[in-house]
Amino acid sequence: MKIFIPKMYQKNIFIINYNKLKQAGIKLLIFDLDNTLGSIDETVINEETSNFLTNLATNFQIVIASNSKKKRVSKFCSNLNIPFYTFSLKPTKKSFIKIKNDYNLDYNKMAIIGDQILTDIFGGNRLGIYTILVDPLDIDFKVSKINRLIEKKINLKNGIIRGNYYEKD
Ligand SMILES: [Mg+2]
Repeated sequence: MKIFIPKMYQKNIFIINYNKLKQAGIKLLIFDLDNTLGSIDETVINEETSNFLTNLATNFQIVIASNSKKKRVSKFCSNLNIPFYTFSLKPTKKSFIKIKNDYNLDYNKMAIIGDQILTDIFGGNRLGIYTILVDPLDIDFKVSKINRLIEKKINLKNGIIRGNYYEKD
């Protein structure tokens, strides 16, 4: 099912082709937190990622949308001057609608970058948001173990092979 297929798949946030997103008219980047920007043991964003996002923010509007609770997300982002949405309930439409309203942008001007097919990619695709899958920073992230199993089945059906990175036109 197409709804589970990301438009782009890259190893991590650092090597995504952001020029391509710019050319596609993307104005706003929505980043997942856990396993995308930081692993579970990182309570605060690391310097490399923080600098990277700050730099990226000169070209795009950037937000973080996490299914984690406010305590975790606000601590993680405490040194970062980037807005965040907590307890997002991805893949429901709730926080995407909120972001859309807050930034007054159509969904086709947004991209979501995350490590989970079932939340980030499914949630984005169903609204027409540009979806980018990255490899999880920590494979053994307990919270999403069941999701990972379901994901494996979905990926198998859709021909998505972990490590076979791609960009679609
Ligand atoms: Mg995640």
